Amino acid sequence: MYPWLIPVWQPLQRAVREQHLGHGLLIKGMAGLGKRELAEKLATALLCQHTSNAPCGICHACELTAAGSHSDLHIVGREGRSIGIDAIRELSRIMSESARLGHGKVAVIERAELMTEAAANALLKTLEEPAGEATLILVSSRPERLLPTLISRCQQWLVPLPDTQSALAWLNEQGVQASPSALSVNQGSPLQTLEYLSAGTDDKRLSLLAELAGLGKQPGRLQKVQAGLQEQPVHLVWVQLLLQDALQTALGVRAPLKLADCRQHSALIAQLGPMQLHELHSALLELRRCLQPGQGRPVNAGLQLSQWLHRLQQTLLHS
Ligand SMILES: [Zn+2]
Repeated sequence: MYPWLIPVWQPLQRAVREQHLGHGLLIKGMAGLGKRELAEKLATALLCQHTSNAPCGICHACELTAAGSHSDLHIVGREGRSIGIDAIRELSRIMSESARLGHGKVAVIERAELMTEAAANALLKTLEEPAGEATLILVSSRPERLLPTLISRCQQWLVPLPDTQSALAWLNEQGVQASPSALSVNQGSPLQTLEYLSAGTDDKRLSLLAELAGLGKQPGRLQKVQAGLQEQPVHLVWVQLLLQDALQTALGVRAPLKLADCRQHSALIAQLGPMQLHELHSALLELRRCLQPGQGRPVNAGLQLSQWLHRLQQTLLHS
């Protein structure tokens, strides 16, 4: 189990042991923290035939769960772009049946924020009438998108973000050299940082941000920078953090930089001054909002990105 899950896992086990565990649970926290693994571990523990608060790993139930074929465990939301009413009706039907192995039934709804409104309302009915020994575990990294009435019926378990030192130590144990900057661009998530570093994306970030900061001196690079960002709009987060560092530098705020390894670049951009930086930052936030998945990606996304980069370049050229 990931070390940062232990502070949640232990009280969860205690709740099972002392029979304080709710019938409806919500495991929430940022993406990339292993919430799904935690939900699976809890489900396995609840269904285990030997103990009830930690999976033994050897009983028939544990074997079936590990093989993904336990008939009393139902998982929804692992794939697809949304969770519809049919999936929830099916879940409710299965949950109302009696347990085959006599250790209750468990349903897990992963990425629960993807439930449609109709699906969430159907689930609400199921939660209102808990069927026997059934436990429902919702997992979400965007709980603010869930119906408030749904949340209020669930016992909430927050998976906290590990502190920087622990996250870096864990990454080191996995055999990767991680910088605090690499962790920053992954919102502090150790798992996402591991994937990011293993894919060699950190080098891409360093070269893209160097080219971006140098746009005033080498205007010919504009298209290359644009192509790099357009390919992965999520990389605009890098640009956003760089601008925030530049703004902080321009304002003379003495706090650690988010991207300490790009100090030179943010210092260069900081010369634009707080006013210009603030405007560029607001425009970037708006651009990111437009490019977010699920926002109905506008046809002119490329154009908007190009306009923003052009504006940055002009500002840099005339500073
Ligand atoms: Zn077992």
